[in-house]
Amino acid sequence: MKLKTFSPKDIAGKKVLVRVDFNVPLSGDGHVSDATRINAHVPLIKELSAAGAKIALCSHLGRPKGQVNAKYSLKPVADELSKTIGTSVAFASDCIGSDVPSAVSSLPKGGIVVLENLRFYAEEEKNDAEFARKLASPFEVFIMDAFSASHRAHASTRAIVDFLPSFAGPLLIREIEMLGATRDNPKHPFVLILGGAKVSDKINVIENMIAKVDAIIIGGGMAFTFLKAKGYEIGHSLCEAEKLDFAREMEDRAKASGVEIILPSDIVAASEVSPDAAVKIVSSEDMPSDLMGLDIGPESIKAFSEAIGHAKTVLWNGPMGVFEMFPFAAGTKAVGDALAKITKSGAMTVVGGGDSAAAIAQFGLEKEVSHVSTGGGASLEFFEGKMLPGVEPYVL
Ligand code: AMP
Repeated sequence: MKLKTFSPKDIAGKKVLVRVDFNVPLSGDGHVSDATRINAHVPLIKELSAAGAKIALCSHLGRPKGQVNAKYSLKPVADELSKTIGTSVAFASDCIGSDVPSAVSSLPKGGIVVLENLRFYAEEEKNDAEFARKLASPFEVFIMDAFSASHRAHASTRAIVDFLPSFAGPLLIREIEMLGATRDNPKHPFVLILGGAKVSDKINVIENMIAKVDAIIIGGGMAFTFLKAKGYEIGHSLCEAEKLDFAREMEDRAKASGVEIILPSDIVAASEVSPDAAVKIVSSEDMPSDLMGLDIGPESIKAFSEAIGHAKTVLWNGPMGVFEMFPFAAGTKAVGDALAKITKSGAMTVVGGGDSAAAIAQFGLEKEVSHVSTGGGASLEFFEGKMLPGVEPYVL
């Protein structure tokens, strides 16, 4: 899927509004505690600045629910960005209204202003055309660079394109290129790895991808619904009783189309989710009734790594266990290591955002895979086969 982007003449000396994702975690004292999302937009900001554009960056932060709330102000982000790029970054205490045009006009060529949180207005999440018109009015060009917000039809991600010449930014383009190549044009064998807490979050991904992949590896909490569906004892492990039929249907569908579903054969179990819990390795076919499964076991690690080892394309979404706690992190780390290994041999390896991205960062493997998506929800919807409303306007 190719997207429409800007050429130098579209931005040179222009007043440019960029939708970024500055939804960063803030520490208790109001400082940015993880600047990954800010840093991701820096190349575009520098490119626009070098072209002499006057740049306004707009974003949401948290869930202020349409109310002004100082806790969700983007001011700390403006300060952090200023430190990162080493030039002063202005801050406008509103994203629409009479102060924005003067804040933008008074910028020097190449200057940058961060606008206040879009979600201080309820109209943003309602995709309100009048709000989008006001947001657009001080500008000549719009660039959408927030992939992680592109599954939402909001005023700043969708309605705005009716009011300005609009282009996809480099982050959005890279995401769609990498995720698109994986979804629509994978090299085989193609292995889908799913984990995390809930089957229900990933049903539509399984439905859409089952016909495209050669094998599906299932770990994490969601594996236990599949194990239970086979009639196994799963103790106190996570289980979605209302999804047992779905799990059986997927097993049948996979068998009929020659897709292998690989489930864990052994489990790291404990009686509680605690970093100090005493752990036991148990068979996944007959778990003790008083324990819960919190990671895949060493045999499963071996089998999963072997299956990944043959793949030319891998898509991974969801951890294999409670990776945030050391006793239950080994399965997720091993899958990360297996991806790193095949990436070196030329395989295409893509990690969905959210918890899988957090896991891969925890193990320092972000640079060892082909792509780590910046959008958890957006990448899930993309692999469900949906056209994302914040991407659609740019599809060529
Ligand atoms: P998700 O957002 O659905 O990808 O789920 C991610 C969360 O699932 C992480 O916080 C993990 O700690 C949790 N998780 C993974 N495996 C298990 C498990 N076996 N039991 C309970 N929680 C799990």
